[in-house]
Amino acid sequence: MSKNTFSALLVEDKESQANLIELENVDALPNQGGDLLIRVTHSSLNYKDGLAVTGKGKVLRSFPIVPGIDLAGVVEDAGESTKFKAGDQVFVTGWGVGEQVSGGYAGFAKVKPEWAELIPEGLSAMHCMALGTAGFTAMLATLSLEDHKVLPDSGPVLVTGASGGVGSIAISLLAKRQYNVVASTGRIEEQGEYLKSLGASEIIHREELSSPSGRPLDSERWAGAIDSVGGETLASILRQTQYRGSVAACGLAGGASLPSTVLPFILRGVNLLGIDSVMCPSWLRKRAWSRMSEDIDLKTLEQLIQVIPLDAVPDAAQQILAGKIRGRIVVDMS
Ligand code: NDP
Repeated sequence: MSKNTFSALLVEDKESQANLIELENVDALPNQGGDLLIRVTHSSLNYKDGLAVTGKGKVLRSFPIVPGIDLAGVVEDAGESTKFKAGDQVFVTGWGVGEQVSGGYAGFAKVKPEWAELIPEGLSAMHCMALGTAGFTAMLATLSLEDHKVLPDSGPVLVTGASGGVGSIAISLLAKRQYNVVASTGRIEEQGEYLKSLGASEIIHREELSSPSGRPLDSERWAGAIDSVGGETLASILRQTQYRGSVAACGLAGGASLPSTVLPFILRGVNLLGIDSVMCPSWLRKRAWSRMSEDIDLKTLEQLIQVIPLDAVPDAAQQILAGKIRGRIVVDMS
């Protein structure tokens, strides 16, 4: 099938950074994931995309490839699929898109129909990408805490990496359900007011959580936590979590290690909940996105995004890895 020329960010091999190129038609797209052809109108920038675009994180599995783990747009050709028809508005997050097969940083994408979902009622393609993998992960973490009986009256819930994508949306989702949200950030001066506007009732400096206390257990502070930082921060949270509290671990912005003991688990019954957005099964995706359309405050969401064109992605990728981005970046592909 022949289409007009379109722009794409392409990573040639594992030593390269992404370069902006023009592709002549959709057949020139490398590493296609399936036969559902989507005209991409919006994508987003996640921490993982920052690693992929700069070539720093070894997250790409196959080359050449178009990165971009999130995409939203319009079905141009449904191929063999009976799930969609041309003109449907759809989105994709995860499933290896933008890591193993080409993703959202191109005018078109070809993916497996089972990876795509209709854009939920009440949301637009832009909203879906404002949420993207980060927002979806924040919702998975929120649901997981709830499933483990961390409820609004259980006590304070800590959100780390608070000014980032996962953190910002987690604060907003928890606040919507009347949780008492404590935000941990390295940028209190610059982002304190912003974090309060999202619904945090208290802000702490991330340094409070960044060093070992020398004890296996500390005073109980948190009924629950959503942690995108990992490393010593996650270990500190585990030491400070209340009896039978739960900690949803979803990221490694501060490191991939976990220098903890088993004592929080065996003496306080603390639960460490793993959160994966990439291969998350369809039933749980449906649950999370349905709850998202109920809980997300679109005005708040619009305040936490910055919209950039495709050619600004390489610079923004450097910024996200440097921890300088606030909230979410939407990539406008039009
Ligand atoms: P962002 O870069 O938007 O946010 C990360 C935030 O973490 C920063 O804004 C900063 O917040 C804080 N931070 C950055 N560097 C450090 C550091 N060295 N030590 C402590 N805190 C730091 O990224 P995302 O929100 O997109 O992703 C957050 C993490 O979650 C990443 O590790 C990502 O890979 C992971 N992730 C995992 C998913 C999953 O499926 N499990 C899905 C999506 C993301 P502040 O300035 O407020 O301190």
